[in-house]
Amino acid sequence: MNSEFLNPDSVAVHGGREDLQALGVHALPLDLSTTNPLPDIERGGDSYESMALGGHPLADGGSVYARLWNPTVARFECALAQLEKAQAGVAFSSGMAAMTAAILASKATAQATAHATAQDGGRSTGQPHVVAVRPLYGGTDHLLASGLLGVEVTFCTENEVAAAMRNSTVLVVLETPANPTLDLVDIRNVVAQAGGVDVLVDNTFATPILQNPISLGAAMSLHSATKYIGGHGDAVGGVIACSEKTAEALRRVRAITGAILHPLGAYLLHRGLTTLPIRVRSQQESARVIAAWLANHPAVEKVYFPGSDGDPRSLLQHQMRGPGAMVAITLRGGFDAANRFTSAVQLFTHAVSLGGVDSLIQHPAALTHRPVAPEARPGANLVRLSIGLEDVADLIADLDQALSPLGCSAPDPRVEAAVL
Ligand code: PLP
Repeated sequence: MNSEFLNPDSVAVHGGREDLQALGVHALPLDLSTTNPLPDIERGGDSYESMALGGHPLADGGSVYARLWNPTVARFECALAQLEKAQAGVAFSSGMAAMTAAILASKATAQATAHATAQDGGRSTGQPHVVAVRPLYGGTDHLLASGLLGVEVTFCTENEVAAAMRNSTVLVVLETPANPTLDLVDIRNVVAQAGGVDVLVDNTFATPILQNPISLGAAMSLHSATKYIGGHGDAVGGVIACSEKTAEALRRVRAITGAILHPLGAYLLHRGLTTLPIRVRSQQESARVIAAWLANHPAVEKVYFPGSDGDPRSLLQHQMRGPGAMVAITLRGGFDAANRFTSAVQLFTHAVSLGGVDSLIQHPAALTHRPVAPEARPGANLVRLSIGLEDVADLIADLDQALSPLGCSAPDPRVEAAVL
């Protein structure tokens, strides 16, 4: 059945499985072959060339080599694309590999266009430039700031995007809800300011269940599939939903740099998709309860949770179908309180990552956002919680026993000055 006519819960269960009936199997097949028999040199070679340039394997040429194509990976990509209402999906070995490929592919596409224009008498547009709306996941911020990928970067806020754009801008990057403060960015507003330049939205926190950036004008919707997509903390992966044309550019970079997702990862992530809608809804309901409970706790200074400002016209209503299951808080007792709190939890695990069935807690300034420039780094009293599938009363009891000893006194300024 055409997935266009199905609701997301049905797409999550059936997407990417269209060929299983013909194969005579019910569960997802896992193909671990690193190489594939070639029909003959000519047809195998043509298929190789097609994939090296970002295309598909040729029907009579086979898929040649697993760095170029794998059917288990392709099924996962197809399912994710359907959930994101996009033409294509391209899967990578991690979320950061996906981000790297998106930047390199945007740069390569712009350079090819500039080259063609220069041959027509046009002018080259200088060093490729990326506009990045902060806050971003610390790894993304680090990658952009590192200069490793040969792009200049302007970091800005949502409303500074138009002013940051240059002739040489090849990509605009944003994250919403953003890691770790859950800031919402208006995707349509940024797309309008980008004036035709591709906008990439990191959709990891929202998942395709709560937000579809492509439908709001973004060119790419990126996921660290390691998080909610897989949902069980046992597979690292990344995936980008986009147009088929953009997918070609991404697959070309992926083939050249060797960043394809491993098929076992694809199998686990594809299986994870089947329960994504119910996991997200259930975790989100617990997060709502926990965010409200935290707002009344004397040790908590502020709760960061989309929509907690109560504004009915908020972006949450316009571009999302729910706030998600991530919550951040600042503690009145500063870094010392954050340190004691993260060490005292028992049901929550003190660990980085997020989006799994079990609840996690971590301190972004010391860990996930450590490489971020000091002016953009989260505060030393900020703690991030990923709410899992445990009973919400048990989670609150755990938070209560860990928070209550902290009291509500202000931090010692000498201790605060000495950390981070
Ligand atoms: N984007 C966001 C919002 C993340 O939280 C992360 C990782 O935490 C990434 C991207 C990077 O993904 P990965 O760890 O799969 O490389």
